[in-house]
Amino acid sequence: MENPLTPEVLADPVALTRALVDIESVSRDEKEIADCVEEVLRNVPHLTVARHSNTIMARTDLGRAQRVVLAGHLDTVPLNNNFPSTVQGDLIYGCGTSDMKSGVAYALHLAVSVPEPRYDVTYFFYEAEEIESRYNGLTLVAQAHPEWLTADFAVLLEPTHGVVEAGCQGTMRAIVSATGRRAHSARSWNGVNAIHGIGGALNRLAGYQARMVTIDGCVYREGMNAVRISGGVAGNVVPDLCEMEVNYRFAPDRTAEEAEAHVREVFDGYLVRVTDSAPGALPGLTAAPAREFLTAVGADPIGKLGWTDVSRFAALGIPALNFGPGDPNLAHAPDEHVEIGKIRDGAATLHRWLASH
Ligand SMILES: [Zn+2]
Repeated sequence: MENPLTPEVLADPVALTRALVDIESVSRDEKEIADCVEEVLRNVPHLTVARHSNTIMARTDLGRAQRVVLAGHLDTVPLNNNFPSTVQGDLIYGCGTSDMKSGVAYALHLAVSVPEPRYDVTYFFYEAEEIESRYNGLTLVAQAHPEWLTADFAVLLEPTHGVVEAGCQGTMRAIVSATGRRAHSARSWNGVNAIHGIGGALNRLAGYQARMVTIDGCVYREGMNAVRISGGVAGNVVPDLCEMEVNYRFAPDRTAEEAEAHVREVFDGYLVRVTDSAPGALPGLTAAPAREFLTAVGADPIGKLGWTDVSRFAALGIPALNFGPGDPNLAHAPDEHVEIGKIRDGAATLHRWLASH
């Protein structure tokens, strides 16, 4: 097959977005797109290229004082009658237009067209971001070639609609339970009703004042919610157990341990069992490349509320943020699209940041 990523296409981030969208690459089926990207990069004299599975790494080695990562995932969610791409006015429609082949187009366009960036750059085009973490290309690279990830700052080109989203919130799930004593409901005074017992915990949640935390100018709004509740034995039995699952989304100034302590404090007197937790990531916008990036964008960052691969870099001590042209609300939607104007604006911003000295 002829590689559709021709020099003319690579020179234009809009044409490149379309060409990438038109190479089908649902998670676990990224070989073809990875082959095309690898072939392009191997022909670029200023880059060193390596591959692990269907993840391609390309880097400059100019001896700059700082190194930044630009990363985008090659995979998409399953197609939904939205392949190949179509154009209507200023919009490109199709699977992966927003999440995130328009972002991948930035990285690939910059990789071939900026031979002397102001920092050394490591570009990642990685597989399997949309499915379980164990398949994620960055997970595999961290295990097999951790040295590839060395950097001072990372930009993930995920959809943010052209704004900078920094850091991310942590998430924790816990089971809060009330216990009682079973009895026949005809003689309920012999028992203790555990479902009634959970009422106090629900009241605490209903009255809970979630924090708003500002870090490096980014606002993170926390939330604590009951997401499931279960209890009951039979229609004539006073139940002896009621369990409520709580999800706490916490700002990145709290560690997972501090978040757990807080949940235990809120539900003091109840049994609390943490079932799952992932720490957040501080925005880390004080690093020089991050400040220079924000200057190039010329707008204030906002806090990222979901969990993304930004946390993966934060866990390695590398400040990271999200910046991409797509609208995150359209990611994974059947009418997924991206604005051509936003692609051009963001590409100009990244050029201003990376190519200027
Ligand atoms: Zn994505």
